[in-house]
Amino acid sequence: ARKYVVKRHFQGEPKKDDYELIEYELPPLKDGDILVKAEWISVDPYLRAYNSQIKTPYDQFSSQVGIVLESKSPNFPVGCRIVSQKGWCDYSIVNPKDKLNVELGVYKLPNLGDLSPSLGVGAVGMPGATAYFGFLEICKPKAGETVVVTGAAGAVGSLVGQIAKIKGCRVVGFAGSDEKVKWLETELGFDKAINYKTANVVQALKEAAPKGVDCYFDNVGGEISSQILAQMNLHGRVSVCGSISSYNDSNLPKATIVQPSLVFKQLKVEGFIVSRWLDRWPEAFADIIQWIKSGKLKTREHVTEGFDKLFDAFVGMLAGENFGKAVVKV
Ligand code: NDP
Repeated sequence: ARKYVVKRHFQGEPKKDDYELIEYELPPLKDGDILVKAEWISVDPYLRAYNSQIKTPYDQFSSQVGIVLESKSPNFPVGCRIVSQKGWCDYSIVNPKDKLNVELGVYKLPNLGDLSPSLGVGAVGMPGATAYFGFLEICKPKAGETVVVTGAAGAVGSLVGQIAKIKGCRVVGFAGSDEKVKWLETELGFDKAINYKTANVVQALKEAAPKGVDCYFDNVGGEISSQILAQMNLHGRVSVCGSISSYNDSNLPKATIVQPSLVFKQLKVEGFIVSRWLDRWPEAFADIIQWIKSGKLKTREHVTEGFDKLFDAFVGMLAGENFGKAVVKV
């Protein structure tokens, strides 16, 4: 089998030689084990975000969809598909329980019918649950309200915006290119999308959200988030999902002053980690699958082919190459 090991902590952007690709022999299966062949491997911002907190060297984890090749676990027969956190490896041995398992993070891929199994690391996986619970549970959107989402063309953001539309909200998204803006407005039904790299963010948001912002789903943090907070309405809700704008910064970010908006608009700001709702993920998956099948929710994947391209897919995603979910086909 082959696996990627992170040899040292990233300095700034991850570099190819921060990783080592290792070949090794897998041991024989023990009772309860399954042998899994990876089919789809996820590259995610959190691989960058968590790096400094983990002792090196470590195996590069992330979610993957794989197929069972050998089984000593009756509930996971040969041929069934699973989702695990085994990450950047082509073959792995896991010991699953027959339900969502917090410790091991191994579960059967939900029944997707005709849809691609790759959705198991995307809309019907961790990013889907993030969008669903992070938005609905924390922002508690009401029909007619104005919702702003940053990182809007990414895996999580593109779902948040569409879920907000399903809930009857006005949706404004920020993304990093004109092509992404066009996709959000013409394909995904965003009321307005804005290229944060070229627009005057404050002015553009005033025009896009003339009644102010009720809910903000924050994927990026940094200065733009402070600018959005300043345009929130009384009792607005802010779901702080990620802060990718600072993940590659080795130095402490500059402090931005957001407190006056929080006080005078009486905002509710809450960060979260999606595993908080792990036992409820199937609820999200059921709704999302149904929305996809009924055409209410569109998914797009940025597929990179080849196990040897995992690193390139990862840094490409951090640089914004992806529309929708960045995933590697093994
Ligand atoms: P995406 O698919 O959104 O990919 C990352 C995107 O981030 C890029 O496509 C790029 O788009 C954007 N980006 C990169 N650098 C910057 C920058 N400096 N400023 C603004 N945008 C930038 O990834 P995910 O959907 O998987 O994740 C989105 C966010 O959600 C991340 O912050 C991630 O850490 C967080 N997250 C949090 C979870 C939780 O439990 N709290 C769970 C899952 C994800 P562009 O071209 O628009 O710049």
